[in-house]
Amino acid sequence: MTTNRRAFLTSAALSGVAATLPFSSKAFPASDPTPDYDLLDKTIRQPVFKKELFKTPVIIDTVELLRFKDTFLCRVRSKDGAEGISVGASQQLKSLYPIFVNRVSPFFIGKDARDLEALLEELYVYASNYKLQSLALWVPVATLEFAILDMMGRISGKSIGELIGDIHHKEIAVYQANSERGITPEETIRQLKEQLSLSHAKAIKFKVGGRMSHPEYPDKRSELLIPLVRKTFGDRMVISADSNGSYDVAEAIRIGKIMQEYNYDFYEEPVPFDWYEETMLVAKALKIPIAGGEQEPSLHNFRWLIANNSLKVLQPDTFYFGGMVRSMKVARMAQVTGKLCTPHITGDGFGYVYMMHFISAVPNAGAYHEFKALSKELPFQCKTSSLVSENGVVKVPSGPGLGVDIDPDYIKKHIVVKA
Ligand SMILES: [Mg+2]
Repeated sequence: MTTNRRAFLTSAALSGVAATLPFSSKAFPASDPTPDYDLLDKTIRQPVFKKELFKTPVIIDTVELLRFKDTFLCRVRSKDGAEGISVGASQQLKSLYPIFVNRVSPFFIGKDARDLEALLEELYVYASNYKLQSLALWVPVATLEFAILDMMGRISGKSIGELIGDIHHKEIAVYQANSERGITPEETIRQLKEQLSLSHAKAIKFKVGGRMSHPEYPDKRSELLIPLVRKTFGDRMVISADSNGSYDVAEAIRIGKIMQEYNYDFYEEPVPFDWYEETMLVAKALKIPIAGGEQEPSLHNFRWLIANNSLKVLQPDTFYFGGMVRSMKVARMAQVTGKLCTPHITGDGFGYVYMMHFISAVPNAGAYHEFKALSKELPFQCKTSSLVSENGVVKVPSGPGLGVDIDPDYIKKHIVVKA
């Protein structure tokens, strides 16, 4: 079968996954595809940003990073007076704002925003920025990319999702995440019941292990909790668990086999995220799909993890991975190899809104996605969505741009950040 034909069939088989399958892991091919780097490289080279929507140049005149208390906004303006704004990942920008001001924003002044995709690649080499590759570089880059996409969306009348793909999901089903460790299995169950009574989610994700190789407390919590969650919430509940890199290979496989016994949907970060070979060994030993990628800064590493079937649920974080364009390339590599994309979410600010726009344009999105509560700090108006979970589903704002307007009086409270 030719590469193109295979990619097309995979794409066709995956479309509609999020809407129709109660268990997302049932979407995977029966056997792992053999590594095909040519296919992945071709996929990476496909453009994401829809430059063709813009007939005339959109020259970037100013880029400002604005701060009020611990909230950061990015405002970009074109020479023709168009404007876009983003809400940064403020918890990270508190430490990283000099990188934004010194190493990222100057590069964009005077450039044509229609060249966004090429500019992102040039920026990586500009001022030796590649030496900073990690959240340190990618959070500032994503913050600026989101402001540019908001501006381009407002110019074209398109949502951010429409600028990076076709719209596949206007609504997103959410899973209920519980982030607590160091509490008893019974207390975790009590918390999950309380959280589900508010979100009405049809899926759950909770924490196992001690986090990044630390010992677990209370002892044996995970192996008691995994069966208890299934018994408490029943066979129809879609259940996943996240170890945040708690285990070595042998222990990761032992815990994974308990999850398999209780029909769990995916198993997230069984070993530390940068243990690539060990992740592959765990994946080969288990049937349950392995999820990961929230910490991953490198497109080339994602290419390896996908080619070698180490991850079947890809979880780039749109902030931590440097924006929508780069994250979409991961989603597309996942698509052509029969895998799913369930992006990680940066919790503060508008992280969940950016995640929703991204998912709206991902045909192979997982069936359920994380949702964190609305930020109470930011006064805003959204005309097309309540932005809350209604019976387990959140509606994606339809734009233009972000589709969310921040109160202008609140923006005025911010001051421009200098290096
Ligand atoms: Mg995680």
